[in-house]
Amino acid sequence: MSELTISDLKVGYKKNEVIHGLNLHVGSGERVALLGANGAGKSTVLKTISGLLTPSEGSIQFNGDEIGGISPAGIVDLGIVHVPEGRRVFPALNVEDNLKVANYRKGPESLAEGFEAAYAAFPILEERRKQPAGLLSGGQQQMLSLARAIIAKPKFLLIDEMSLGLAPLLVKEFYQTLDSLFSSEISLLLVEQNAGMALAHCSRFYVIRNGDLVLEGNSEDYRDDPTKLQPAYLGQ
Ligand code: ATP
Repeated sequence: MSELTISDLKVGYKKNEVIHGLNLHVGSGERVALLGANGAGKSTVLKTISGLLTPSEGSIQFNGDEIGGISPAGIVDLGIVHVPEGRRVFPALNVEDNLKVANYRKGPESLAEGFEAAYAAFPILEERRKQPAGLLSGGQQQMLSLARAIIAKPKFLLIDEMSLGLAPLLVKEFYQTLDSLFSSEISLLLVEQNAGMALAHCSRFYVIRNGDLVLEGNSEDYRDDPTKLQPAYLGQ
């Protein structure tokens, strides 16, 4: 089981409140998209779930337990893994060390198993395992980010803007990889600018604007024409 319920969440940066009372639910094994324009507050929601920000009000429950304010390491231990925007690799460390650092709490056996799975998914990373991550292409850095998540063996995945700055063909490949790598038991909350891609891979969605929930629905109602979401994005 891995379900997440956010109720009346308020959070921001110092005195600047960004999310003004969000309610959101991801059921066990469900794939849900969190959509909205630049600056709407999507990354802020993911950062709060993963323990990088502390809610000022409201609750975040994982399988019925309150997790708001738990440290990032504690959140990872619960099986919630965040793939942040912008790849966030350590540029000076080589590929292998990037994977190890991100999973330093794993035992040697589980780490070896994880490496095998990650390299099977992205063979180019094995070829480049001794190269500094900063020398990888953008697409390869995104592979490295996903490889870290594979090794972590998540129950619940938070993915932020996987397609940002990548060529459309590569984006398609990443989504196929996501579908094949992470079984349908793993719940997913996906932040995306590319609404079409998000709707294709998630069964439900939420749209937020300026930190408020403005629309939620079933993806199948919008898949034929994702531009129908634009008024919600833009407030028209
Ligand atoms: P984007 O796709 O541009 O990342 P987003 O919907 O994920 O958009 P957030 O990154 O959550 O939006 O940002 C929401 C608001 O919070 C913005 O107004 C942004 O300026 C502000 N913000 C984000 N990070 C910080 C920070 N570290 N300190 C102060 N304000 C921040």
